[in-house]
Amino acid sequence: MEKAYSDPLLGDIIFRKRKGIRRLSIRVHPVKGVSVSVPYMVPFAAAHAFFILKRDWVVRTVARQKEACRDIQQLDSVQVEEMRRQAKDFLPLRLSELAGRYGFSYNKVTIKHNTTNWGSCSARNNINLNLNLMRLPSLMRDYVLLHELCHLRHHDHGQAFHLLLEHLCTDHVLRLMQEGDENASEVARLAALSRARYPFDHIFSKQIKQYRLV
Ligand SMILES: [Zn+2]
Repeated sequence: MEKAYSDPLLGDIIFRKRKGIRRLSIRVHPVKGVSVSVPYMVPFAAAHAFFILKRDWVVRTVARQKEACRDIQQLDSVQVEEMRRQAKDFLPLRLSELAGRYGFSYNKVTIKHNTTNWGSCSARNNINLNLNLMRLPSLMRDYVLLHELCHLRHHDHGQAFHLLLEHLCTDHVLRLMQEGDENASEVARLAALSRARYPFDHIFSKQIKQYRLV
């Protein structure tokens, strides 16, 4: 036998009568939600009254579970090390590929782990790349690399910088389209429709905001 009570904050609370249950108990499940086990002899109204007494505890527990879920999305140290390994194997190689193609030279490249930027380029032409880049779709990752490469020539976000970056993005996207890359075709379609001054930069910057540095 079941009965649901609707709670304004917690949603539906399922009260379930079961055989062999001697006492009232509340269960808070991260996916299944909140349920109350009720002994056969106890009326639902009494079980509900019991729930109301314990409601503050339930609200706190639900909040704590949500917080724990969010923490899981943070990376643990093993995951970070794995990502760092992948990043060290991949990013310097990819950066030198793109640099070679477009005629850039830089001093050295360092893989960093921070939550402030995807990449940076120092006045001494050292490029730092965030290991979080490994979590991005390849086209967006390339955009960040191209962005940092353009800083080798323009250490600001002025017009010359943007014109160069837009030029490289256009060339890069066209190349990928020729290789049959569907993401590139989609981005090119969006860019053709865009009224932004620098369409590729506008599209990629917007897409990258969907990702968090962790
Ligand atoms: Zn920049």
